[in-house]
Amino acid sequence: MALTALRRPTPLIAWPLEIAETVAEMRRIRRHLDGTVGFVPTMGYLHEGHLSLVRMAREANDAVVVSIFVNPTQFGPNEDFERYPRDAEVDLRLLREADVDVVFFPTVGEIYPPGYLTCVNVEDVTDRLEGACRPGHFRGVATVVAKLFNIVQPDRAYFGQKDAQQVVVIQKMVEDLNMPVEILVGETVREPDGLAMSSRNVYLSPDERVRALVLSRSLRHAQALFAAGERDAGRIRCELEARIAATPGAAIDYVSLADPRTLRELDWIADRALVSLAARFGKTRLIDNVLLG
Ligand code: AMP
Repeated sequence: MALTALRRPTPLIAWPLEIAETVAEMRRIRRHLDGTVGFVPTMGYLHEGHLSLVRMAREANDAVVVSIFVNPTQFGPNEDFERYPRDAEVDLRLLREADVDVVFFPTVGEIYPPGYLTCVNVEDVTDRLEGACRPGHFRGVATVVAKLFNIVQPDRAYFGQKDAQQVVVIQKMVEDLNMPVEILVGETVREPDGLAMSSRNVYLSPDERVRALVLSRSLRHAQALFAAGERDAGRIRCELEARIAATPGAAIDYVSLADPRTLRELDWIADRALVSLAARFGKTRLIDNVLLG
């Protein structure tokens, strides 16, 4: 029976959240979804950033699918795959409350069964920034997103501007491989004090949490400089580096002013720039960005 024909008969009757744990189950459910399908891929431990994307998907589509999968291939050998925060119970409650139709919640073995051999490699735009600091990261991201698109077959997929380079990589993959999915981007959702929401923020000690504010403050400073007419990218980069370097316990991975499409570093901001930062606070690595222009 067509699900959309029966979706939410009245606002008072909750439509049950379907949970697919296998590819076969997800495909079976997908075959019964009518109309447009909006898809939000996540690694779980959901916060307002994820939920803002779910709301965008809910508003624009007949059905909404969310995946929860901590993808091992996008983590380096010394990164936090094992300790990445997980809380399925809370995630499922939040997704139910957000009126999501289907959650795809596979195991690692379901996505990468024994003998798995295939990767998607987007070149050039993955060489810089996160790609340079985390070799193989975007190969893992592109591969899992391509697989998820094939499994879920969404009409639209929603990604956060918080991971700006990821958006560039996914858009390039979709364009180059002719994937029939429209990519939509949601603004970065922040805590009231400016810290970009991230599942990894729970790693921060109270001290580190305060120090981490230097990232969003530095980005606001870049916006202020740009608004005051500054177009020398090198000068803005230097000011931001100095601010972060002056913060005790902050270790910079990069401060970048780059072309928002090619991600190549800029000397001069002709029209637009992506300002992106990555820094470590203790064992926690945080990223943040803003667009200028
Ligand atoms: P993750 O679970 O970290 O893989 O994130 C899943 C999706 O949520 C990605 O598209 C992220 O860019 C997006 N996202 C994560 N944090 C935020 C945030 N603070 N604001 C908006 N989107 C976010």
